[in-house]
Amino acid sequence: MYYKNEDIEKLLDELKIEEVVGEVVDLKKSGSNYKGICPFHADTNPSFSVNPAKNICKCFVCGTGGNPITFYSKYKKISFSEAVKELAKKYRVNIKEQISTKNIEKIKENEKYYKIMEEAHNFYIDKIFSLEARIALDYLSERDLDTKTIKEYQLGYASAKWSELSDYLIDKGYNVDDILNLGLIKKSESGNLYDTFRNRIIFPIYIFMILLEIE
Ligand SMILES: [Zn+2]
Repeated sequence: MYYKNEDIEKLLDELKIEEVVGEVVDLKKSGSNYKGICPFHADTNPSFSVNPAKNICKCFVCGTGGNPITFYSKYKKISFSEAVKELAKKYRVNIKEQISTKNIEKIKENEKYYKIMEEAHNFYIDKIFSLEARIALDYLSERDLDTKTIKEYQLGYASAKWSELSDYLIDKGYNVDDILNLGLIKKSESGNLYDTFRNRIIFPIYIFMILLEIE
């Protein structure tokens, strides 16, 4: 997770150092500043100074300090981004978490898998009303599933043949390792590829990936 610089600035504009520090350090007014016991070293005198005008804090003994975000991250021992996230939530500042390029790459990489799954699904759907799927249709009709329902729920059929789907997908140019990774096919000890699903009715399961935007 990361945040745009403008959002970090927006958060800093909203945060008051005396409030963020004041939540965990007992502060006493001292001129235009505040003073308190430093939370970062074994302090006995109030060495921790908070400057509202500059929106920063600093310990004059151990030197630890910073702005409201860096103070919070050091105090809580969390990363800068985590501190941004928590403070924005706590003080109700509306900023958006960005999707990192790493995540975008991951989403792109998954697209190829979705494509193969879709292709395999269509392959099975096409089979269900074929002659060889007669036994499957009879079974479904015994279970009171009519043609309309079968079509609506996109049920499919995998024949008893060993490598029908495997041959089909490889012929279409899909990468064998990708198909193996998806678990649609398997490799025997002798290195032969065979279909995972054979002689059965296929019920598709959809998992939706939702990217939430926290407003
Ligand atoms: Zn200190």
